[in-house]
Amino acid sequence: MKTFEVYKLAPIEPVKASGCKIWDKNGTEYLDLYGGHAVISIGHAHPHYVEMISAQLNKIGFYSNAVENSLQEELAQKLGELSGYPDYSLFLCNSGAEANENAIKLASFHTGKKRVLAFREAFHGRTSGAVAATDNPKIQAPFNETANITFIPLNDIKAAEKELSTGEYAAVIVEGIQGVAGIYEPEKEFLVELRSLCDKLKVVLILDEVQSGYGRTGKFFAHQYSGISADIITTAKGMGNGFPIGGVLISPMFKAVYGMLGTTFGGNHLACAAAIAVLDVIKNESLLENTTSVGEHLFAGLKGSKAIKELRGRGLMIGIELNDKYLTIRDRLMMDEKIFTGTAKYNILRLLPPLCLTKAEADIFIKAFERQIEIIDNE
Ligand code: PLP
Repeated sequence: MKTFEVYKLAPIEPVKASGCKIWDKNGTEYLDLYGGHAVISIGHAHPHYVEMISAQLNKIGFYSNAVENSLQEELAQKLGELSGYPDYSLFLCNSGAEANENAIKLASFHTGKKRVLAFREAFHGRTSGAVAATDNPKIQAPFNETANITFIPLNDIKAAEKELSTGEYAAVIVEGIQGVAGIYEPEKEFLVELRSLCDKLKVVLILDEVQSGYGRTGKFFAHQYSGISADIITTAKGMGNGFPIGGVLISPMFKAVYGMLGTTFGGNHLACAAAIAVLDVIKNESLLENTTSVGEHLFAGLKGSKAIKELRGRGLMIGIELNDKYLTIRDRLMMDEKIFTGTAKYNILRLLPPLCLTKAEADIFIKAFERQIEIIDNE
């Protein structure tokens, strides 16, 4: 059997990693400013993380949600404390799409309504509800087409008011920062007004923090820069530092009913051990503070570069929109400078490094970026 070829693969096979470094099978070292798509939060192979998962594996790796599992309680308690949502409840699942699927379902159960308002260029995942709320027809099969989702431009409060005033909506779903779109942030005033619209019209506000959450922007969740609270927050990626886990943070206004949500693997012992280790390290190593200061350092180092059309983002979620002449820079960074970065569209470099990135490592990237600009200019 062969694998189903749905991914365009870079010709590199990582076999070992530590902190922000990766080694391929030939022993070549790379600097990781991509974090496996914003997944590596506390750094590769962190000793506390390895220890917690290994110790758990030697005790019990899995049992179903039919029995008590105090690791889930410990995780919920620590997440509530660190995220600033101590009175919310946690539903555990396995991925970002699944977290959004459950969030939409919960909002629909709660309001008895069907429709969801989403934003142009949004990405919420590939399962039915999540992909329907994703503004990309290329990844929607005919089966996913639905009249229950409406897309409006990000930051257009008038359009939001017009739609929500119909009284037909269960929820609005918005990313803390749009990632796949190329790092676009909802404006503070927009989120504040959207929050009050949702309160007035009894619509559930869902914040998708799958990519922008877990400290990536320097606050635990990106929407916390606007001072609002969401009714439901979804998380995944950085939550398990590579171990598959997703979470739905649920406001006390929702009433849990046995059987309304469920999963086989969600909240298993190994996933909880991984997620607890991540929270321990974020707290003990002050990774939110590090993210803010190294993020500012990167912004300062890149600002004004002639290769950059626009620099966007916060903390260690950075979008570098490139001028046309420099579009080859990502491949050059990977092949010639041995630095991993991400992309969005054809012209945006996305930096999503582990949150333990040091200023010295950021400088390696900045120098390599400048060097490649000079090489392109001289070709
Ligand atoms: N939501 C956002 C904002 C994302 O960026 C992603 C993945 O890139 C998802 C949801 C889907 O997460 P997953 O791939 O874990 O299902």
